[in-house]
Amino acid sequence: MASLISDLLDRLHKEYVENRSGTPLQGVPSLEGIDEDAFGICIAMADGQIYESGDTDVEFCIQSISKAFTYGLALCDQGKERVDATIDMEPSGDAFNEISLHPVTGRPRNPMINAGAIAASSLVAGQSTAEQTERIHSLYETYAGRELGFAADVFADEMRDGNRNRAISYMLAENDKLRTEPDDAVEVYLRQCSVLVTCRDLAMMGATLANNGINPVTEKRAIDVGLAERVLSVMSTCGMYDAAGEWVAEVGMAAKSGVGGGILAVLPGQLAIAVFSPRLDEHGNSVRGVAACRRLSKDLELHALHVT
Ligand code: GLN
Repeated sequence: MASLISDLLDRLHKEYVENRSGTPLQGVPSLEGIDEDAFGICIAMADGQIYESGDTDVEFCIQSISKAFTYGLALCDQGKERVDATIDMEPSGDAFNEISLHPVTGRPRNPMINAGAIAASSLVAGQSTAEQTERIHSLYETYAGRELGFAADVFADEMRDGNRNRAISYMLAENDKLRTEPDDAVEVYLRQCSVLVTCRDLAMMGATLANNGINPVTEKRAIDVGLAERVLSVMSTCGMYDAAGEWVAEVGMAAKSGVGGGILAVLPGQLAIAVFSPRLDEHGNSVRGVAACRRLSKDLELHALHVT
């Protein structure tokens, strides 16, 4: 089985490395030097066993994949009732940076788009942005099972050019959906987006979710079981932005992508797949990442609703 998975990853890597379609994230100057050709695929089993192929050690910004983990922290800090009163969990069908608040309740549609993610960051416990950021960063490290870096230059660029996120945050404040000041909520959110991970880190973070919230190597708990189930549920319906419906049909795994080029897909109790490749499709999802996840789901029969 082990060599079967390793061989499959090498084969898929070789096949999809030829695909040079898509464009890396534009408009963030500090990301301009990024190696567009980088491509890594990693599978982490729920028991911590790793299979990998390609550039699985290259660091990149976690970006929107962070939204899933911070949502879990907000649930843990504030409880489901308060979080649910603040953030809905319906797929929006909108782009990730849509200013989409419910016309009656004022709630952002879900925590996987920027509006819901900024609200979730604001709900993280802490007296200051520094304290909230520190709690988020160290939680990600618990998921990954090692210390993680921070891309200060990317953060600075996104803060400087963050008017759209600030607009979203002020709309949230207007609707009483923030616990902190709108500028502070954006700062915490953009700091979490700039946490650096490798493909292997991301796979291990997913394996922690797959392993009932416990990192299978360090055996440290990152999230309660019931909350892990909630995070995975919302990932499966809302994690791939406006491509979420197609993703569920084609791949059938809880997933989250980020504009840094990462995609994380999780099958509870079994495994997590992480792919890194910076060229993005029109939804902001990694082109090779989507292709590799589709194939792995098919070839390894990972679709959660698989019918035999
Ligand atoms: N930092 C980016 C933003 O807020 C993250 C978006 C993403 O990965 N989709 O616009």
